[in-house]
Amino acid sequence: MFEEILKNFTDIYAGQKPALISRAPGRVELIGGHTDYNQGFIIAAAIDKSCCVAAAKRSDNKICLYSQWAKAKHKFSLSANLSPAEKCQWANYARGVAAILLQEGFELNGANLYIQSEVPVGAGLSSSAALEAALAKAMIQISQFDCQTESVQLAKICQKAENVYANSPCGIMDQIVSVMAKKDNAILLDCRDLSLKFLPFDSKNCCIMIFDSKIQHEIAGSEYRKRRQSCEKARNALSKKFPHMKALRDADKSMLESVKEKIDSITFSRASHVIAENARVLTAADALSKNDMAQFGRLMNQSHCSARDLYEISCEQIDFLAEAVCRCDGSYGARISGGGFGGSVVALAKPEAAETISKNIKVAYERKFNLDCSIYLAHPSQGAKVVELK
Ligand code: ADP
Ligand code: MG
Repeated sequence: MFEEILKNFTDIYAGQKPALISRAPGRVELIGGHTDYNQGFIIAAAIDKSCCVAAAKRSDNKICLYSQWAKAKHKFSLSANLSPAEKCQWANYARGVAAILLQEGFELNGANLYIQSEVPVGAGLSSSAALEAALAKAMIQISQFDCQTESVQLAKICQKAENVYANSPCGIMDQIVSVMAKKDNAILLDCRDLSLKFLPFDSKNCCIMIFDSKIQHEIAGSEYRKRRQSCEKARNALSKKFPHMKALRDADKSMLESVKEKIDSITFSRASHVIAENARVLTAADALSKNDMAQFGRLMNQSHCSARDLYEISCEQIDFLAEAVCRCDGSYGARISGGGFGGSVVALAKPEAAETISKNIKVAYERKFNLDCSIYLAHPSQGAKVVELK
């Protein structure tokens, strides 16, 4: 891919050669749905599909961008007070990353940037975090910032860029994974203090499969806000009785039972999901450390049922995919991944079974919904890095 990027860069920037290419992966959430804003745990992995940004210095203080995906150029002057562009949403990720880096004290140099990504957009694999992380790395490196940027700081800068400039209230998991992942490891992320633990993942005996339903319901945004409000309600009721309780992460099932009379049944269901899901993530981390993929898969299945019945964030197409994949020979388990109301199903499977599973699911999904399900196989890969070109 690098050769193609070099050629394209040179074509777009009138013969100029890039000085470096940064590369940052997409990610997949394996288990831990809606635990992030409850200060809980998630297991995720970077996938072996990345966003690349080739960069060359400019002599002025402008950033010039070209995205192969958008097939468009965009140019802006570096300033900590940059506003989002009204008509060019994709460029706002770069405007945001540049502005927040400047606000954090990075002295950026002008640059020509060329973006080429393998991460499919909107498939639940976080093409946006891959883009932000690759842009941030490229902008910092081309400015020859000599201090080593701390990875968590970089992830937070990327998240803020997305929150503020792309108007997307995403958590921090996508950016942490894209920036910090290690090859052949999943990550157990503690969303309270952002500490993480690497969990070796045996790719020879297990592969990650992602099934993009191609469905995204309009209600996703408003329902997401409602879920957060329910969690807040449950937390308030619990903290009256248990003053040490800072977030649902601090509660267990019996604590929730003890305030059942004080909350409505929907709030109770939502909190039940979060509390059980959080415990499942820790059990799954333990299973992974013992290479017990059958147990990990069972926990994924339970996670799906809980998301469907208690958190009510699934839909017909996603349930169909999760259930159909579970029934396939060689599958360990499957669940809805991401925010819900469409999006993707993630599954773990024996590598030798992946091809048959893909074929069968594609045919069954098309027959049932007349939709093409895109299927991606992934192995846990390395986080963002920069390659200097000679
Ligand atoms: P995802 O789940 O893939 O992260 P998002 O809606 O969060 O979906 O982010 C997708 C958006 O990120 C795109 O609509 C686009 O604005 C931006 N984006 C992602 N990849 C690229 C790219 N290669 N070039 C330009 N913009 C991109
Ligand atoms: Mg995204």
